[in-house]
Amino acid sequence: MKPWMLKIFVVLALVILATIFTLSFFADQANAETKQSQKKLKTKMNSIKKVEKTEEEWKQELTEKQFHILRKAGTERPFGKEYDEFKKQGGGKYLCAGCGSELFTSETKFDSKCGWPSFFDPADAKNVNTFEDFHLGYLRTEVRCAVCDGHLGHVFKGEGFDTPTDKRYCINGAILRFVPFETEAKATSKEENKSEL
Ligand SMILES: [Zn+2]
Repeated sequence: MKPWMLKIFVVLALVILATIFTLSFFADQANAETKQSQKKLKTKMNSIKKVEKTEEEWKQELTEKQFHILRKAGTERPFGKEYDEFKKQGGGKYLCAGCGSELFTSETKFDSKCGWPSFFDPADAKNVNTFEDFHLGYLRTEVRCAVCDGHLGHVFKGEGFDTPTDKRYCINGAILRFVPFETEAKATSKEENKSEL
């Protein structure tokens, strides 16, 4: 091999090595960016995941009545103070007392005279799940919060109420957190609303 050929060979080898090094550097960077965006996506998914707590944690956070209804599928007595309050409330949202998810709004509330707060449609269907319930020996449709899986009440169909859906979401008032529309805009943090319970 002549010396000039050796020089060309060395230069070529250096160029190839430099190219490989540069390419792998950018590949690493792209990989890091992908990992970062995956991490962000995971964080977002975690932020909308279901609320799961132990029985002890729920007991500490909820009132005795709310715990009985939400976690033990209990029912408040009809025509209680929650029902009176419900009838007096104006425009606003009804949030789950367990997790704060929006369940209903005043736009779908109606007076069924049954003794419990009634709505003809959930505010945000994804926050409300329904299940078949045979606890009383006949089929009823149980309504549960889709986020914290808390029991809310039952839904009855075809009762002849003059509502757009002919459905009555019969919901326990004690587990609804009412947030009037006008104060919602002023509220700076969800924690402040919680203390109003
Ligand atoms: Zn909930």
